Amino acid sequence: MATIFSRIIAGEIPCYKIAENDKFFAFMDINPVAKGHTLVVPKWENDYIFALEDDEIAEMMVFAKKVAKAIEKAIPCKRIGVAVIGLEVPHAHIHLIPITTEGDLDFKKEHVHLTNEEFLDIQKRIVEQL
Ligand code: 5GP
Repeated sequence: MATIFSRIIAGEIPCYKIAENDKFFAFMDINPVAKGHTLVVPKWENDYIFALEDDEIAEMMVFAKKVAKAIEKAIPCKRIGVAVIGLEVPHAHIHLIPITTEGDLDFKKEHVHLTNEEFLDIQKRIVEQL
């Protein structure tokens, strides 16, 4: 069965898309730990980021870098933190999270609750910076 991220990439499940190329896809996390929290995923299924080939993981990080630079311009923060967890969705992904303190990367703290309008506004601001 396809992963939820494959279904998002295929357009079967809606998302707030940020960017894509032929191999990778970026979209906003539906349960963000901070405004601008974005996920970068390969378009093919692979459960574990460190099971990717060297060139795949390198290309994925270069794609993530472009997205991170856009988030950094769009969202007030000190920098973009990077997290790889993968305990919930078995489809390799990188979390890009605007941070000001190290506590901003804490997934156990209260997440940010955004309305559809707020998601759309943040999406637009990030996409404009790409
Ligand atoms: P992880 O697998 O790294 O532990 O967490 C998966 C992440 O994917 C979580 O931050 C969760 O909020 C996000 N996520 C799970 N399902 C969906 C979904 O259907 N849409 C979006 N945009 N994000 C999701």
